[in-house]
Amino acid sequence: MEKKPFVTLEKLKEIDKTYPTPYHLYDEKGIRENAKRLKEAFAWNKGFKEYFAVKATPNPFILNILKDCGCGVDCSSMTELMMSDKLGFHGDDIMFSSNDTPAEEFEFAKKLDAQINLDDFTHIEFMEKQAGGLPEKICCRFNPGGKFKISTTIMDNPGEAKYGFTKEQLIEGYRILKEKGVKKFGLHSFLASNTVSNEYYPTLAKILFETAVEVKEKTGVKISFINLSGGVGIPYRPDQEPNDIYAIGEGVRKAFEEILVPAGMGDVAIYTELGRYMLGPYGCLVTKAIHEKHIHKEYIGLDACAVNLMRPAMYGAYHHITVMGKENEPCDHKYDITGSLCENNDKFAVDRMLPKIDMGDFIVIHDTGAHGFAMGYNYNGKLKSAELLLKENGDVQMIRRAETPKDYFATFDFCDILK
Ligand SMILES: *Cc1c(COP(=O)(O)O)cnc(C)c1O
Repeated sequence: MEKKPFVTLEKLKEIDKTYPTPYHLYDEKGIRENAKRLKEAFAWNKGFKEYFAVKATPNPFILNILKDCGCGVDCSSMTELMMSDKLGFHGDDIMFSSNDTPAEEFEFAKKLDAQINLDDFTHIEFMEKQAGGLPEKICCRFNPGGKFKISTTIMDNPGEAKYGFTKEQLIEGYRILKEKGVKKFGLHSFLASNTVSNEYYPTLAKILFETAVEVKEKTGVKISFINLSGGVGIPYRPDQEPNDIYAIGEGVRKAFEEILVPAGMGDVAIYTELGRYMLGPYGCLVTKAIHEKHIHKEYIGLDACAVNLMRPAMYGAYHHITVMGKENEPCDHKYDITGSLCENNDKFAVDRMLPKIDMGDFIVIHDTGAHGFAMGYNYNGKLKSAELLLKENGDVQMIRRAETPKDYFATFDFCDILK
């Protein structure tokens, strides 16, 4: 499928008068329409709720849009809990899916009456002894081990993943939690990341539904919600077929009807914790070409770097690139598109065929709405960019300002040095 930016060159030129590149731009209309489709796809389940994975795009304006669409939040740290609390997410609006969790984060999540997802069997005792006791509602994260396959294709390797309880620990864990007076139980698992397949959620759902039935038979614990977590992916590459969320919802419904309903568990609520699927395609990194270099290869240097988008440098991830205004020109130039870090892996693309790039061209890097800005860092003393929101009415709002040197130096005490 052809990948088109959600913003026009004309609009970028207009934004340029107020906000310099680079910046991340988000598409409110796209975010809202997509959230609506997810809700429709799971409307068959009475208790369905999406808990947006805050770590993907931790911006209060984005969280407010999703709140307005009926989503809750999935938090993984103290600051994410604090932000969610400030925005008015409380109690069952919050999942706290953390791992290797500090005691004070458990305590704060408990104070917010969040649904706490335990990553490990030992966290039961940890919460009791070091985090002021167990709450009334607890979710447990399951790791079945081995390889996770969809038919014969290996999707991921849970046996090597640090998360979750084994099956035996899970059964024993629910037994203990019930004994200790926990009232509401959930079951959670995250087995594969960025799946571009309508089969991921239905396959995972089947495993979790069967496990929930087994838990009920072996311990008498009745699971109230099953959290399919994140992992539904997006087509970063133009040759990938996008997921069909309606087919995914229908696949989960079938497994639900086949496994949970006959076991008398037809009232179980389905939760999701999607990050990438909710935001990925609805954000882009807007940059300009500022240097060209002709040595052993052809290089184009942008005014952005891996600090603004780490995925290509970190995972060799593909992000589609559009040279704005040249969409209809032939892709007859082979470029490495680089950032400015003193790190040779700071390349947004390697050997990418693109139209001829001229200095000052607007370059849009696609699909940066999730795990984009959020993974930013300050290596080489580089500063993080602004985040802008393209609103439904076409206006542009700055939803996070760019960092300044003052922000960068804020954690030093210069008094001694400057004397
Ligand atoms: C990262 C994460 C998610 C979101 O994952 P996506 O791939 O962005 O959908 C959801 N739940 C947990 C526990 C996570 O760690």
